[in-house]
Amino acid sequence: MAEGKRLAKSAGSLKNLTARYFMESHAAAAQGKPVAWVAIIVPIELLKGFDLVVAVPENHSAMCAARGVGAVQAEKAEREGYSTDLCSYARIDLGTWLDKGKGSPALGMPKPDLLISNNNNCSLLVKWFDVYRRELGVPHFTLDVPFCYGPRTEPDTDYIISQFKDLIREIEKLTGQKFNEDKVREAVRLSNEANRHWKRFLGFAAHRPSGITAFDSFVHMAPYITSFRGTPELVEHMKLLADETGELVDRGDFPVPHERYRLLWDNIAPWHQLRKMYKRLAEHDANVLYASYTSCIGTVEGGVELYEPDAQDPLRSLARIQNFSVCPYGLNLRHQAMGEMIEKFGINGAVFASNRSCKVYSIMQMDLMRMVEKDYGVPAVMIDVDHADPRKYSEEGVFTRIDALLERINA
Ligand code: SF4
Repeated sequence: MAEGKRLAKSAGSLKNLTARYFMESHAAAAQGKPVAWVAIIVPIELLKGFDLVVAVPENHSAMCAARGVGAVQAEKAEREGYSTDLCSYARIDLGTWLDKGKGSPALGMPKPDLLISNNNNCSLLVKWFDVYRRELGVPHFTLDVPFCYGPRTEPDTDYIISQFKDLIREIEKLTGQKFNEDKVREAVRLSNEANRHWKRFLGFAAHRPSGITAFDSFVHMAPYITSFRGTPELVEHMKLLADETGELVDRGDFPVPHERYRLLWDNIAPWHQLRKMYKRLAEHDANVLYASYTSCIGTVEGGVELYEPDAQDPLRSLARIQNFSVCPYGLNLRHQAMGEMIEKFGINGAVFASNRSCKVYSIMQMDLMRMVEKDYGVPAVMIDVDHADPRKYSEEGVFTRIDALLERINA
């Protein structure tokens, strides 16, 4: 994929961080450090107030899918009766756990002492984590985060903070450790610094031709959803990525040099298709150069611009960004965010990837697509994918529709 040759230094850094994340997690857990399995949206910076191993099942499942073992791991769960209609992240993770880590490039994740989920992405995730509560007999804490149709309200933020405080008390009781808010403050500062570089990297999509592909952003968001969030390592990685991209742009080295189609992607990355899809699009001088999925990091309610946290009040800042991902906000906010992306990055076509697994991301896409075409005058197409299960993906079917989109852009 684009990052292989072009972003060689960043690819090396990513490989190193990924290996470290899994190896260090297993090693620290073996030495007795308490392990928390957390959902992507759970504020990992908050957990920096303790000395924990933090592991993210969704990240592990995405990694399995990207390395080509998603279907094999999912089938292990399906054989035990888990429906193929469940999110493929859940099936891959449950399959890996049922088979004691076998088949996973990281040998799975260390056994948890605590589970922390949230319900603002989807309720399936809460049920998935609850399987482990039942089977492993470990506590499961769920953050109840209100859905929002407009900017987060103060009472909602206060409600989330009160749950953070409950969670802190629970972890103190469970581990015997004392919460350290200064460490959280520092983690929030570091995440913000990393996000600043992330936004600088994404900003190269505005160049003509674009300095990046969205596929680069899918790959390089990975350390953000690991225990490296809120650490100097994340800052270094994102800085390297933005700097290296800037050097390539200065040299005139672009992922799709003769770019004619500047496409926007809506939904989770198709992990099993990244390289293939990038290459096949590039053959048509088409570039998916920006994605709602990776734009939302460091923002609130889908806006493109970076959210600046209040360093003096880290818990409030973390509560404020509890709706940063796309799923927890309504149609109008999504429409508004798409408008910002289309304008800022000179988009001339939109690809809505209806995701068989992620119903919450997909459910309003048909309305959103119609609104985007009507209000922003951008041709769009709906394709069928599953982010982690290649059995639910037809390359020819998808490209028949993408070809039709490119023809409409030409017309
Ligand atoms: S359905 Fe979507 S939000 Fe829920 S766990 Fe799967 S990918 Fe995440």
